[in-house]
Amino acid sequence: MLSTNPHRNCCIRPAPLGYNAPRGVALSEDKIIAIYPGSFDPVTNGHVDLIERASKLFDRLIVALLLNPEKDPLFTVEERVEMLKEAVKPLANVEVDTFGGLLVEYARRKRARVLLRGIRAVSDYEYELQMALMNRQLQPEIETVFMLPAEAYSYLSSHLVKEVAQLGGSIRDLVPPAVEARIRAKVKSSQ
Ligand code: ADP
Repeated sequence: MLSTNPHRNCCIRPAPLGYNAPRGVALSEDKIIAIYPGSFDPVTNGHVDLIERASKLFDRLIVALLLNPEKDPLFTVEERVEMLKEAVKPLANVEVDTFGGLLVEYARRKRARVLLRGIRAVSDYEYELQMALMNRQLQPEIETVFMLPAEAYSYLSSHLVKEVAQLGGSIRDLVPPAVEARIRAKVKSSQ
């Protein structure tokens, strides 16, 4: 059975014999899975803004925390995963995972067709472009999609949030409340 939408027939695989999908209902192969990779050390309101926007565009969104032994993170992987899970709890089609190695390999394993990245300012663009083109070279059928956060978050980075907190500034509007409490506790224990 093919889709009832004639424009989509080119890319929809016939269902296996004996499978009776309701007419017009997309088969699971048609679901667009996107991966949003990053360090999330910690997750900020900018990340959450992007995740909320993307959750409306894609069928399933996997927020994937990169296990990167070279970086010196403030939070452990477990802490970052917990904070992310708390932040995405209201979004039914968003899940949190970790990965190591090549992102495109991980995406292939997850059957994801989209890699999502955020662009805040022109300064992000050059690095993101390089990475997107390299990923395309490695796995041409996976597309990188760039999204913009709300303007209010376009200056926001995990790095800046940590710096402001360490210097005693308010980070209330910059991160989810549970993250704010955790950063405060970290800063306190390191002083
Ligand atoms: P990475 O180490 O991969 O840059 P980050 O956690 O810093 O990990 O960022 C993950 C992704 O989220 C990147 O694409 C980054 O550009 C994007 N991002 C970070 N902060 C914001 C923000 N305030 N608004 C939108 N996108 C953001």
